[in-house]
Amino acid sequence: MGKSISLDIAALVLLLILLNSCYVRKMTSGISNRIFMIIVLVSIASTLFDIAAVTLDNAQSNNIAALYTAHSGYLITHFLCVPLHLLFVISLTDTWHILRKRIGMQILLGLPLVVMFVALVVNAGNQIVFSVESGYTRGPLFGLMYVATVLYIVFDIVYIVRYRDLFSFSRLVAIATVIPVGLVAMLIQMFNPRTLVEMFCGSISLLIISIGIQRPEDYIDSFTQLTKYSAYVYDMKRASRNDKHVKIIMLNIGNFRSVQAMVGFDSAMDVLKEVAGKIREINKKMGGNADLYYLDNGRFRIVFCGKYREKAESMAEALNQELKKKIELNELDINLTPYIVLANYPEELTDFRTLMAFGADFHQRTPYTGQIIRAGEMYNQNQLDIQNNIDEIIERALEHGSFEVYYQPIYSVAQGKFVSAEALIRLFDPQHGFISPETLIVSAEQNGAIHRIGEFVFEKVCQFIASDEFARLGLDYIEINLSVAQIMNGDLPDTYLAIMNKYHVTPDKINLEITETAAAYAQNVMTDNLERLTQAGISFSLDDYGTGYSNMQRVIQLPLKIIKLDKSFVDTKNNPKVWIFLRNTVKMLKDMDMEIVVEGVETQEMLDAFSDLKCDFIQGYFFSKPIPRNDFVAFITEANKAS
Ligand code: C2E
Ligand code: CA
Ligand code: CA
Repeated sequence: MGKSISLDIAALVLLLILLNSCYVRKMTSGISNRIFMIIVLVSIASTLFDIAAVTLDNAQSNNIAALYTAHSGYLITHFLCVPLHLLFVISLTDTWHILRKRIGMQILLGLPLVVMFVALVVNAGNQIVFSVESGYTRGPLFGLMYVATVLYIVFDIVYIVRYRDLFSFSRLVAIATVIPVGLVAMLIQMFNPRTLVEMFCGSISLLIISIGIQRPEDYIDSFTQLTKYSAYVYDMKRASRNDKHVKIIMLNIGNFRSVQAMVGFDSAMDVLKEVAGKIREINKKMGGNADLYYLDNGRFRIVFCGKYREKAESMAEALNQELKKKIELNELDINLTPYIVLANYPEELTDFRTLMAFGADFHQRTPYTGQIIRAGEMYNQNQLDIQNNIDEIIERALEHGSFEVYYQPIYSVAQGKFVSAEALIRLFDPQHGFISPETLIVSAEQNGAIHRIGEFVFEKVCQFIASDEFARLGLDYIEINLSVAQIMNGDLPDTYLAIMNKYHVTPDKINLEITETAAAYAQNVMTDNLERLTQAGISFSLDDYGTGYSNMQRVIQLPLKIIKLDKSFVDTKNNPKVWIFLRNTVKMLKDMDMEIVVEGVETQEMLDAFSDLKCDFIQGYFFSKPIPRNDFVAFITEANKAS
């Protein structure tokens, strides 16, 4: 009985569908897609040779030339699929440059292929692989093919295992299934030579790869038609894994959220499409060498590899010019704030984690200037290290008590002397040096350490207030910052009142600063806390007034004694409109019986201007920066003696 070709026909149909789907799903560009298509094509050829060979065998043909051609064709194409799969895996890991350097590995990978090819070419003359003269019989070198196949499979496995961190589990399964499926096929074939399962199993493996790995929906964002976040993550991980140097243009639309809030979701997507279109167009004009990604929330990435890196600079320029133009959308003019950062990876942003952390929010860390920002200038490595390790740094500082409290004097215009001070936290980390309170406080709020830090500061201040030297200074009170997370903590009043008790500190010596952001929360816990502390006799200041979007009604209802005008007013006071606003604000606040502190006063001119406005207190570098307790005592003693 002859062999059946029905499974081969099935394989052929499957392979043709796969080939077609490569085109339909536009999976035709890029090296791994191309290799995949070559595998499909070679498999089609292999199946056709197999069908021809079996048909000739079944017909007991005497056409020796045709028999040799069909069988050799089948063997060589079938065998070729194994190293091609290996190339496919290598292309997924993008390690060509490593392979290129290793001549030994190239020979090891190429040699079996050459030997098999030569053996099959000379086979018709000496029958070393197989013969067809008296039916299909295997020759002495046939086994070589199995040896070579095993060699490639070993390489395959080594590669997959070594680079497993690049792939998700499901992708790993999809790449690796070829191996067991192939082995099963080989076993079936061995025990049951009449059914030709090998090609069928091969096509099934390809199908699994196609479904599991080549999924455009995984990679293409449907709005922008650019590659997605997941692809960016994969490609950047791969680049750092392979020590491949790239230059990245990071574009974060700073005001994307407010644009979306303003025009709605659909129109915001149109804006994104427009931006993506501009990026694509500029890239095309410049030779199309960049990889383009859309991440989320108005964040785009443009990546140049290898010799194309030098193009990044001019692309960033062109993009910056283009994106500064307003976008017209349904008769609305939309102005974007396109933050553009140029980053060398991994030179400036040294590892994957840093790259992602930096890219997440650089637009929130710096005012928009319209200039291209260089990653290396914006953040030095030390600052990035601090950000990455802030949790440990805080933990260590709390453990070793290495936080310090500094004091910045506050001057009374009416009394002509210093009457109070603001307590500000300082941290010198043995490894990273000075760590800015902003970095510190934001992270501490996120990881919950803010409560312990807050207590530490409060206790230090109470210790100071209870000391004799403080009494000699004749100061009225010390201002202490409270962040939102602290005011939301139900234990706050008990803890703080207990500390004051411990040091016999009277409440008139304490003033707590809260911000407008906190004032915006209409939260029960917060209201209760404020009430309890007020009841206990502690007064409150509203910090950073003028920077938030305060709910005026809320602000008025809060038990506030002092309003602190934000530093930013001082910078803009040359603007006549700001000055009118300030004059009226001060008047309004005075009518409400509030006291006013101006922060950030750095020059005599500013001091005079705000004194003329009848602000009560002045704080700023003009008098003194925040200084350690001992220096502060010396400073106040000296200054108030003179006055
Ligand atoms: P803030 O409460 O607005 O503190 C005033 C900030 O302005 C301080 O920065 C101070 O050094 C700075 N400053 C004072 N005078 C001038 C000036 O003339 N010119 C300029 N350019 N700056 C001036 P610092 O110490 O870096 O603190 C930053 C922020 O960190 C504080 O802003 C506050 O929100 C937070 N913070 C500091 N210490 C604590 C704390 O113990 N607890 C809490 N929750 N937050 C704190
Ligand atoms: Ca403050
Ligand atoms: Ca402030």
